[in-house]
Formats: sequence, C-alpha cells, structure tokens
Amino acid sequence: MLGAGASGSAVVRALAARGVAGPLLLVDDGSVPIAERVWASWLAIEDAADDAVISASWRRLVVATDRGERVLGLTRHRYVAVRGPDLRDATDAALRTVRGERLTATATAVHEDGDSVVVATSSGDVRADLVLDSVGLLDAGVREPRAWMSFAGCEIETDGPVFDRDAVRLMDFRVPQVGGATFAYTLPWARDRALVELTTISAEPTSTRPDIAAHLDRVLGAGRHRVVRRESGVLPLAPRLRRPRSARGLAIGAAAGLVRASTGYGYARMRRDAARIAEQLRRGEPPSGLRRSARHHAMDAVFLELATHDPATLVDSLDLLFARTPADLVLRFLDEATSPREEARLVSSLPTRPFVAAAVRAGRPFARGRALRRQGR
Ligand SMILES: Cc1cc2nc3c(=O)[nH]c(=O)nc-3n(C[C@H](O)[C@H](O)[C@H](O)COP(=O)(O)OP(=O)(O)OC[C@H]3O[C@@H](n4cnc5c(N)ncnc54)[C@H](O)[C@@H]3O)c2cc1C
Repeated sequence: MLGAGASGSAVVRALAARGVAGPLLLVDDGSVPIAERVWASWLAIEDAADDAVISASWRRLVVATDRGERVLGLTRHRYVAVRGPDLRDATDAALRTVRGERLTATATAVHEDGDSVVVATSSGDVRADLVLDSVGLLDAGVREPRAWMSFAGCEIETDGPVFDRDAVRLMDFRVPQVGGATFAYTLPWARDRALVELTTISAEPTSTRPDIAAHLDRVLGAGRHRVVRRESGVLPLAPRLRRPRSARGLAIGAAAGLVRASTGYGYARMRRDAARIAEQLRRGEPPSGLRRSARHHAMDAVFLELATHDPATLVDSLDLLFARTPADLVLRFLDEATSPREEARLVSSLPTRPFVAAAVRAGRPFARGRALRRQGR
C-alpha cells in the first residue's frame, strides 16, 4: 500500500474489519505529516455511527448568501470530523490484525515483473502480489486541472461563546468574490473554538485572499480571539473518469480521481471505495473499487465552468437548490449516490439557460484553454 493518508488508512481499516489478512506493507514517507491533518465530511448516519475514529459530528449545515441564511437539518447524514492522530492510531491497530507493518520510505517507481509487482523505494525494492497506490506512481498521463480550489484559514479561540456547536457553516458567500466563487467555511469544535477558512474556486490558482478578519468580525461576530493553528492549501480540480491501474496495481484516493472535482471532498468516497476493495479481496477477486459515474463527471464539469466563469449564477443556483431540495438528497448527489430520477429532480430546481450555456462551454474546455493561452492569460 503506497501512502498512509486518507485512502491508504481507509483500505487498511476496511481489510481489518473484514478479516482479510496480509502480509501488507504500508509505505509512507511522512511528506504530508498526518499529525496536523483533519478531514471533515458528511457520512450516512449508519456509517458515522460505526466509525470509532470520528472525533466530532454535527446535525445541521448552514448555507448563506446575500439573501440570508438557510439552516439545513440533516436527517440521513451527519457531518463529521476525523483528526489525523486518531486515524493513525486506528490504522496501526488495524495493521496489527492483518499482519501488516509500516515502512517509512519514499516510493519512486512501480513495475510489473512476471507474477508480481516491484515497488522501488528509498529503502530498496519491495516485491508484492498487488500494489494499491495513493501517491500517483501508476499515473502515466498528465491531466490539465479544470479549476483550482485555494483555501486559507485558521483555528481560533474566542474570549466568549460565539459559535453554534451543532451547525457547520458549510458555505457562506457573504465574502468578497475574488476571481471565482469564494465562500467562508466554519467548523465549530466548541462554542469558543472553530476552524474558519476562506475558499476560492478559480480557473487559475489564486494567491489573492479575501479578508478573513472582516468575516470573523462582521459575519461571525468573533470578537477578541487567538489564532491556534493556520491551514492553507491549493487543490487542483481535475475530474477523472477512469482510474489508473496495471495488471497488479490500482490507484486509490485522490490519485484515483476520488476527490470530487465540484466539491474538493473525497473522504467519504475513499471510505466507500476502501470497503469495496476490501470486499473484493475477501472474495478473492481482483480489486477494482468504486466506478465513477459519467453523469456526475459531466455535471462536475458544468459546476466548475460556472464557479470559474459565472460565480454569481452559481451562488444563486445553490441558494435555489437548497431552498427546493432536502439537504440529504443534495449530499447524496455530491456522493454520486443518486439515481437519474433524483438528479432530474435536482436539475429541475436550477435555472435552465445559464446551465445549458455552461454545459456547452464545459464541453470545449481545451479549446477555451488554448484560446486563453493565446491571449496570454
Ligand atoms: C489541505 C487539504 C485539505 C483537505 N481536506 C479535506 C476534507 O476535510 N475532507 C475531504 O473529504 N477531503 C479533503 N481534502 C481532499 C482529499 O480528500 C484529501 O486530500 C485526502 O487526504 C486525499 O487522500 P489520499 O489518500 O489520496 O492522499 P493523502 O491523504 O494525502 O495521503 C497520501 C500519503 O502519501 C504519502 N506520500 C506522498 N508521496 C509519497 C511517496 N512518493 N512515497 C511514500 N509516501 C508518500 C504522504 O505522506 C501521505 O501520507 C483535502 C485536500 C487538501 C489538499
């Protein structure tokens, strides 16, 4: 297993849960230190209930635009957070039950050799029957991202009780829109402690940041506070329909396209993918994991087209979507778990003309990319 982040850990835990024994080697070089990581995501209630690694959960989401706030009660989902150290401990416990061990090394190449696969690492070659790769070594092709998600924020402690502990502010568009769709996100750990981030989805990675202090002050009313931790990142949004594989290798995680391009979320899908891979291995089948749906893939492209080139329409449409559709259905749609009939219901709540125009534009992204490059943009 290459990489002990979200997807590698999920597969190890899924194997242990099904009693699928190794030997298994979990290779990670620590280049993305897990101790500082936090993943947040919605999960179906039954999945959230049986996952001991979840450290906090929420029942309500808030989506806000200039028209006001919508508080969305979740009946079939919970929004949850998982802290890196907890995930690492749970993965170590799972490794012990599957005859697994960790190797701290950098994996540099993978090649098939007869009936096995060889991974070159900084600690020497490792021969295996199968490699699951979350570090991108099976990926031969270069994909041009359709958009970029740039985010920056901080965990703060306030002097007084400020936050509603039971409501995650998923998207608050009442921030200056800088070069794409920009929103604030607030994850309240306690009444006086929260992670607050500003996220922009734009055609190019952006270093322009709207003023987070203004949002803390004017919208959240945070008052006097201390910054406990800072977080920032840039995520290329490159939708991928087919996952890289070889005769004895399969990409997992972001490298497999499991980060949904329209949301930047991947944790829940990696969990489902891991469950499927572990089940296939338990049955003695070659693992293939979750299949991406071509319909959702196409809809991601339209969403990104709007986010990057017509964010005002996107914000109005999201407002309409959450006004007319139960939040649980929207979350299942974002998980690619909806039927065509449910998607027709979702789509019918959206304004037709700008979406059709965006779909047409999204169908020719490479032509547009070439045109922009010709213009020197
Ligand atoms: C800053 C940030 C925050 C995110 N937050 C969320 C979130 O809250 N919720 C959500 O659903 N999604 C989130 N995502 C999207 C996505 O779900 C995560 O990036 C997720 O961690 C991807 O899982 P992964 O297993 O593919 O990669 P990772 O979790 O990054 O794991 C890869 C592992 O491989 C190791 N590694 C890398 N290269 C090598 C190498 N050559 N050899 C050996 N080891 C190597 C790294 O140390 C790392 O531990 C976030 C993305 C980013 C960039």
